[in-house]
Amino acid sequence: MEGELQLNLRQIIQVLEDILGRPSRWNGKAYLARTISFGGAAHYDGSISVSELVYGEPNLRWRTMIHEAIHTFSPPYTRPEYNAAQGWEEGVVEQMQRLLRPQVLAALGVMVQAEVLANAEADHQYNAYIVLLEDLRLHLRDAPVGFYRTLLSTPLPERATVLRQSGIMLEEQERQAYRRALLKAVFLAAE
Ligand SMILES: [Zn+2]
Repeated sequence: MEGELQLNLRQIIQVLEDILGRPSRWNGKAYLARTISFGGAAHYDGSISVSELVYGEPNLRWRTMIHEAIHTFSPPYTRPEYNAAQGWEEGVVEQMQRLLRPQVLAALGVMVQAEVLANAEADHQYNAYIVLLEDLRLHLRDAPVGFYRTLLSTPLPERATVLRQSGIMLEEQERQAYRRALLKAVFLAAE
């Protein structure tokens, strides 16, 4: 099973490298974890774990593997950096997962039940981060993939600063609304 997980991840990461045009920092190691404390985890050393429970669900394992794979395209960060800005990583990675998943699964020839995924994502723990990121994106009138792609390639501690700078070009009234939205996101991201 662990070999199969490793193979799945290798295929996913290959497609993501083609889409994003840059290399992943996955170290090639994959573990099936006997835990219910997480569905999947991308570790600081570049390895990836997926819980046996999630991997045992053919409709759900792909979204988790793609999510963890996308983490490996973030510039490396430390645990304190992650804890201080969790939302800037998880919101970006999870929304990128949702945006790129159809393309990744099509490339792999994998079919999943849309209804099962919709249910899993309807009350997903990172939805609050995504709502705030989408609010910022709409203020900036950025295209979805481009917006998240830029953030994903920016070092985690600098993501909020990059967005603050993007707001400078907005008209005065819009800029104030944008600044409030950014402040909300900054507070939530550390929770
Ligand atoms: Zn994550």
